[in-house]
Amino acid sequence: KAMLKKTVLALMTVTTLSMVAGSAMADAKNPKIGFSIDDLRVERWARDRDFFTAAAEKLGAKVYVQSADASEQRQISQIENLISRGVDVIVIVPFNATVLTNTIKEAKKAGIKVLSYDRLILNADVDAYISFDNEKVGEMQAEGILKVKNKGNFFLLGGSPTDNNAKMFREGQMKALKPYIDKGDIKIVGQQWVKEWNPTEALSIVENALTANNNKIDAIVASNDGTAGGAIQALAAQKLAGKVPVSGQDADLAAVKRVVAGTQTMTVYKPLKQIATEAAKLSVELARNEKPTYNAQYDNGFKKVDSLLLKPILLTKENVKVLVDDGFYTQAQIDGR
Ligand code: BGC
Repeated sequence: KAMLKKTVLALMTVTTLSMVAGSAMADAKNPKIGFSIDDLRVERWARDRDFFTAAAEKLGAKVYVQSADASEQRQISQIENLISRGVDVIVIVPFNATVLTNTIKEAKKAGIKVLSYDRLILNADVDAYISFDNEKVGEMQAEGILKVKNKGNFFLLGGSPTDNNAKMFREGQMKALKPYIDKGDIKIVGQQWVKEWNPTEALSIVENALTANNNKIDAIVASNDGTAGGAIQALAAQKLAGKVPVSGQDADLAAVKRVVAGTQTMTVYKPLKQIATEAAKLSVELARNEKPTYNAQYDNGFKKVDSLLLKPILLTKENVKVLVDDGFYTQAQIDGR
């Protein structure tokens, strides 16, 4: 639509030009934003949605939210639907990083700006990317475990193979683990990706890994809290919960309770209100053709994408209070059973 506007602008005479500019300005003041989320059934994304919508509405925007429920086909049709609704910006948490090239081409043709949210969309003409420093998240996960166990058999439980973040977490984890592996102190006895980040799948992967290694697994580097939950359930069945360190990410409420109880070693807190608020600001700036501030660039295979990276926080039993101070949970929520 904006593209059409641009073409129209170029062709118009001065008199009609002022009319069109008038309506374009009204649009930019109240931009329409589509938010296409991989999977709203996952705890964190529902919070991202709420924080994002609130922040964007405060800035005068209207937000249309869609959840693809881990289906790449559904996500593609939902984005197409947002394109035909004539939104100004589409913010996307991709289920599959590699299948949106053509859909995004269509959006760009219609003059719509595209923001990749939390997960990088690959091989596509996205305007910007906002996330936490995902390699750092991976490093924190390994470091959190190394603090309590730096020798023995380690199992790596990765995220979804369709999620570019899963690879970045792994890179960060390996960066921290490598010196110990090189010394021969740590042996990686297995590594697996968890389809759709599914906790039940994580449970069965860890069950099998325990069986294959006669329960001789000394640590599990899990890439998020959902999969950590599955891993800990498998450990519990062997009376190993709390004995084998497990990492996580997201500060899901159940995971925070496990960290307090000692069955999960750490989690990574990513202030969701911050990413959502920054993303809302960025979206509105893109809609208004303003120049947002970035602090990084990522090559997504198509171009170097301007990126805004935020800082994750390593959370252990010692500093869970951060969550209360930040208003993420109340103490009663954390203590509640
Ligand atoms: C996000 C994590 C989340 C995972 C599963 C990743 O891309 O960065 O915060 O736990 O997806 O939804």
